[in-house]
Amino acid sequence: MTNTKTKFIFITGGVVSSLGKGLASASLASILQGRGFKVRLRKLDPYLNIDPGTMSPYQHGEVFVTDDGTEADLDLGHYERFSGVEATKYDSTTSGKIYQSVINKERRGEYLGATIQVVPHVTNEIKEFITSHLTDEDFVLCEIGGTVGDIEGQPYLEAIRQIAYELGRQRVMFVHLTLLPYIPTAGELKTKPTQHSVKKLQEYGIQPDMLLCRSQMPIEQNEKRKLALFCNVKEENVITALDVSNIYEVPLAYEKEGIDRAVCNHFCIECNEHRSDLSKWQKIVDIAGHPKGVVKIAVVGKYTQLLEAYKSLHEAIKHGAIANEVKADIAWIDSELLEKEKPEKYLKDMQAIIVPGGFGKRGTQGKINAITYARENKIPFLGICFGMQMAVIETMRNVAGVVDADTTEFNLACTPVVGLMHQWQKDGKLEQRVEGGDLGGTMRLGAYPCELKEGSKVRAIYGVNEISERHRHRYEVNINYEDILKQSKMVVSGRSPDGLLPEIVERTDHPWFIGVQFHPELKSKPFAPHPLFVDLIKTAIKLG
Ligand code: GLN
Repeated sequence: MTNTKTKFIFITGGVVSSLGKGLASASLASILQGRGFKVRLRKLDPYLNIDPGTMSPYQHGEVFVTDDGTEADLDLGHYERFSGVEATKYDSTTSGKIYQSVINKERRGEYLGATIQVVPHVTNEIKEFITSHLTDEDFVLCEIGGTVGDIEGQPYLEAIRQIAYELGRQRVMFVHLTLLPYIPTAGELKTKPTQHSVKKLQEYGIQPDMLLCRSQMPIEQNEKRKLALFCNVKEENVITALDVSNIYEVPLAYEKEGIDRAVCNHFCIECNEHRSDLSKWQKIVDIAGHPKGVVKIAVVGKYTQLLEAYKSLHEAIKHGAIANEVKADIAWIDSELLEKEKPEKYLKDMQAIIVPGGFGKRGTQGKINAITYARENKIPFLGICFGMQMAVIETMRNVAGVVDADTTEFNLACTPVVGLMHQWQKDGKLEQRVEGGDLGGTMRLGAYPCELKEGSKVRAIYGVNEISERHRHRYEVNINYEDILKQSKMVVSGRSPDGLLPEIVERTDHPWFIGVQFHPELKSKPFAPHPLFVDLIKTAIKLG
C-alpha cells in the first residue's frame, strides 16, 4: 500500500475516443513536476488481451517496451518522454492481466471458497494495481483507457469510485477529458455531449472535479459557467484543452489555463503566486517553432498508413531534429511501393533513410531495395531491429553474393543469416525458447547491455563503452556470419556481453550506415534526445 501522502488523480475520457488522454495525463504530470512534485503515471486498459504485444499495429499502434520488458500501451511512451520517469511493469495493466491474476488466485484456492465476482474480486485487483508498488510519490496519475460508457470500463470506474470513498476526496481527484465540438452552422461550441458524458460518470458514482475540454477555439467564460453549473464542477476547474500545432506546447497551454493551480486548490496545497517551472518546455517550443533548416528523412516501413504505429520513432526523429535546430520533413514510404517502382523515385531527395522494426514477409523486398539505395548512394542509413536484420541480409546477398541469404522468420529454405533465438542470457539466467511456443510475451524484451567496439562509429556517437537499450524481437543475426560480413565491409560494432549476439552492425565504407537490433527510439526524450538520431540528422545535414 502507499504512504498516506500520495494523492491519486484519475483521468477518464468522454464523448469520443482518441482525445489524447495519454498526452493530457503526461502533460499534467510534467506541470506538477515543474512545481517540484514527484509523480508516477499509470495506465489501465479495459481490453481482454494480456498486453498489446500480440495486437496488429493497425489495431493499437505501437507497442511500447519498458526497461523491465513489459509490452505496454503507447501512452507509456508519452509518460516517459514528458515526465522522464521510467515506467515499469507495475504501471500498465489490462483487463486480461487483471482477470488472469484473479483466476490464478481462484485456482490456488486463495479466495477460500468464495464465489468469484467482478465486484469485489476484479475491482479489488484493480485497486491493488493502482495503489501498490509506490514509494514516496506525491501524485499518481492513472489513466483509464476507453470512453466512459464502454461496458469494458465499468469495473475500473467502480474501482476508482471505491478508492475515492476509502482514501477520502482530499487524496483523490477525478479529471474528465471531453470534447466540445464546433458546429459551423450554429457558429458555436457545443457543451451537450460533455454534459451527457458527465451524467454517465455520475451514474457510476463519480463526480468529476475537473473538466478538461478539448476544443479548436478558446471557450468563452459563459460556456465554462454553463458547463460548471450543469456538470457540478467549479468554474475555475473547467479547463480549455485547446488544439495546438505541436504537442510540446500542451504543458505550456494547460499551465496558462491554470490546471496546476486547480489541482493544488483541490488538494488544499498552498500555491501562492508561485508558478510551475516550464522553462525547459518553452525552450523546446522556441526551437521547434523557429527551425534553422529542414532535413528530409524517409522512413520505409509497412505500417505507414497509421503513424501511431511508429509513435516513438516519429518522436525520436523530432527530438534529433530539435537537437540540431532543424525541422524534420518525414516521408513515410510504404515499402511495397519500392518493389513496384524504382527506389530513386521516392528516395532521391532524401538526406537520410530509416528502415524501422517490423514483422513478416510483406514489403521486405522493398525495404531491402531501400537499403541497397542507401548503401550505394552513401545516404545516411539507420536500420532498426527488423531494419538491421534486413541490412545484414542485403549485404550478404548483394555484396557477399550469398543470394539465398534470408531470415527463418518466413523462409526456412535459405542461408539462415537471421534465425530464431533459442536461448540467451537475461540477468545472469538462461532464457530458452522453442519453435512453435506461445507468441505473447516471449520475445527478447526490455533492456539489455551491449558492449561497443573500440574505434567504431557507434562508440564515438555514444561516447561510452557499454550501453543499455530496449529490445523486442524473436530473431537474431547469426554471429557465425561475422567474418563474411567483415569481408563485405560490414562490422559487428556492438554485441551482448557474452559476445554471442550481434546488437549493432555498421558499414566501414559508408559515411553513416548503422543497424541496431534494439529500439533506440524508445529511450529518446525531448530533453534527452537519443545520440543515434542526433548524429544521424547531424550527418544528414552536413552531407546535404
Ligand atoms: N520480426 C523481427 C524479429 O522478431 C524483428 C522485430 C522488430 O523489428 N521489432 O526478430
